[in-house]
Amino acid sequence: MLRFIMKLFKRTTKSTKTQETTPAPAPKESRLLYDAPKPDQASMVAYYGEPGDESKLTTFDPPYPMFLAWDTDTPVTKIRCHAKIATPLELSLTEIRDVLGLEYIDAHDLDLYGGCYNYRNSRNSTNLSTHAYGAAIDLNPDDNANRTPWHKDKIDHEGYASMPLEVIEIFEKYGFKSGARAWGRDAMHFQFTQ
Ligand SMILES: [Zn+2]
Repeated sequence: MLRFIMKLFKRTTKSTKTQETTPAPAPKESRLLYDAPKPDQASMVAYYGEPGDESKLTTFDPPYPMFLAWDTDTPVTKIRCHAKIATPLELSLTEIRDVLGLEYIDAHDLDLYGGCYNYRNSRNSTNLSTHAYGAAIDLNPDDNANRTPWHKDKIDHEGYASMPLEVIEIFEKYGFKSGARAWGRDAMHFQFTQ
């Protein structure tokens, strides 16, 4: 119910969209603003420290109202992640708010938070997940599930994930890897690795 009220509120809030046209994308390398480590275990530990070390974590306020994806009446008051990804993550979400706008966030359910730090294995192997380092975030998991295929020409089509390309490109600009782009599935997932 609370989220419904917040959504009504958001609909009456003027969109902060500031950009009407998207310039032609530059080569990906030149758009990376932050350098992420390689995704292998040794590089991850060298960069982040041991997974599960909560002394390495920090929190920040979500730049736009978010709700727990599994309990959509519950607002997310803090995002808890590794200190080394806090700046690029906050900048990514802030750019989503400022460039795409609150109506867009609402329409694509980008306010449904699927978690960040979580000491657990990857869903697809016995290796630890990048979430165990606090180095990944999930957004709108219900429409972008781990096994749901994502294809850039079939976004939000029947049977396909909904994560918009422009959201993926914002995360990529700040150095994140998108599950959608990397694996064609797990489109909820953005991790701060190469
Ligand atoms: Zn994830």
